[in-house]
Amino acid sequence: IIEISNLKKSYGNLDVLKQITFNVNKNEVVAVIGPSGSGKSTMLRSLVNLEQIDNGNICVSGNYLVKDGAYVKPQEIKQITSKMGMVFQHFNLFPHLTVRENLELAPKTVKKEDSKEIHRRSSELLEKIGLTAWADSFPAKLSGGQKQRVAIARALMMNPEIMLFDEPTSALDPELTGEVLQVMKDLAQENMTMIVVTHEMGFAREVADRVVFMDNGEIVESGTPAELFTNPKFERTKAFLNRSL
Ligand code: ATP
Ligand code: MG
Repeated sequence: IIEISNLKKSYGNLDVLKQITFNVNKNEVVAVIGPSGSGKSTMLRSLVNLEQIDNGNICVSGNYLVKDGAYVKPQEIKQITSKMGMVFQHFNLFPHLTVRENLELAPKTVKKEDSKEIHRRSSELLEKIGLTAWADSFPAKLSGGQKQRVAIARALMMNPEIMLFDEPTSALDPELTGEVLQVMKDLAQENMTMIVVTHEMGFAREVADRVVFMDNGEIVESGTPAELFTNPKFERTKAFLNRSL
């Protein structure tokens, strides 16, 4: 469903993405791990056009976003990126809107959908993340874990085909990460296609179909959690895992 090939990006003479090639299949959960500065966020952000790449290909559901370094028309870019929902480390909720209003804003303004249908869906998602009682509260009243659950629900309101997560729990107190990981596990169980950049090795091991290890702008190796965690092929992977587990 996502095909990335020969992705290249530099900032000045720093090569952040060197020659990234990797695919994600429909219904697959891929965990991306790797040291700080290895290019994980840049790769994820380039999928939703928050970063522009210098060369390579990105193809989503059969539609090119970039082909040989050339981007398609802005209208098409919007259409392609709208298939993906993204959740960041910092939840970026709108502070002046209630939880329900945060969920409903984009469908109302971007998609101009029927407001009854939007309300039905926001109620359903609030139920799913266990925050029905908080529908009319403002984000400032919520814990970090609750905010992140709202951020996930907000992305789901747009009915994405693919969900991208960039270290969704790393800004949270340890006791709050579990509730966010649980919502992500439920999504995986429902066969959502997901790419998750994470430091949560337990989550990667338990939930991911495939783990990708990035270092220094390259994909060093990828495999099932069993392969990668118990039998890493490369020294760089071993060294990273020894530091992280
Ligand atoms: P972390 O685990 O810390 O989030 P990461 O793997 O997500 O790291 P990126 O954020 O993708 O890494 O950054 C990759 C490299 O690109 C880093 O060396 C970073 O300093 C550099 N970089 C990122 N954004 C910019 C920018 N706007 N200008 C210059 N350099 C940048
Ligand atoms: Mg990052």
